[in-house]
Amino acid sequence: MRPAPGDYQAEALDFLTQSLKDFEDRKWKYSVLHAGMAVEMLLKERLVKVSPGVVLERIDEPDCRTTVRMSRIIPRLETLGIRPEQSDCRLIGKIAEWRNDVAHWKLRATESDVRRELSAIFKFFSRFLLAELGARINEKLGATEYRKFRELLREWDDVVKEAQEEAAEAGHVDDHMPPNTYDCPECWGPPQTVAIKDGKAHCFLCDQDFESTSCSRCGEAIIGEKESLEEGPTWCESCTEHVFSAD
Ligand SMILES: [Zn+2]
Ligand SMILES: [Zn+2]
Repeated sequence: MRPAPGDYQAEALDFLTQSLKDFEDRKWKYSVLHAGMAVEMLLKERLVKVSPGVVLERIDEPDCRTTVRMSRIIPRLETLGIRPEQSDCRLIGKIAEWRNDVAHWKLRATESDVRRELSAIFKFFSRFLLAELGARINEKLGATEYRKFRELLREWDDVVKEAQEEAAEAGHVDDHMPPNTYDCPECWGPPQTVAIKDGKAHCFLCDQDFESTSCSRCGEAIIGEKESLEEGPTWCESCTEHVFSAD
């Protein structure tokens, strides 16, 4: 049976509700797992909104019983002319990674890891729900769930503020650039949590160390793992976007 519009959105909200409950019960792994599932369902709803058939793994086989894998959803949306922001595409990739880490028990998640991942996921969820499906999260979640949802994000904002202050104290970048405005490639969290100093960078939110180099096109500082910077291309985000949108 083909899914109808709305089916996946209902599933997505069920998973989100479950994730909030897991978080409250301190079942960290399950809260990330279910939040990741919620995002997958939300993206599938976007496909179904175009046409129910496009969610199938093989569109040209009407009897196909499997739906498109998480890793193929973005390419498929793009084929259909729906292009999420590049930073959202990367975040979606990161969410899939977090979910897999948990599913394969690779991760001994701490409460603070889980808060960081959940808040990134929840923010994306409510943004995408409104922008692509025209629905507001506060109208879709029950009152109790929405209160938990907001509480988690609010508590997280305090943690973020602290990390931003620490970064501002520790950071040093060239005068012509706004200080500490680089998104962390690990937690893909809020801006200004990364301080750069002498070619080294540190995120005060997830406590990771990175290397820093400059964009070979515009000179803007960029940060990343040592290996990925050596591989290149060492372009900053806005140069990459500029080059790709030019063709
Ligand atoms: Zn970080
Ligand atoms: Zn650049």
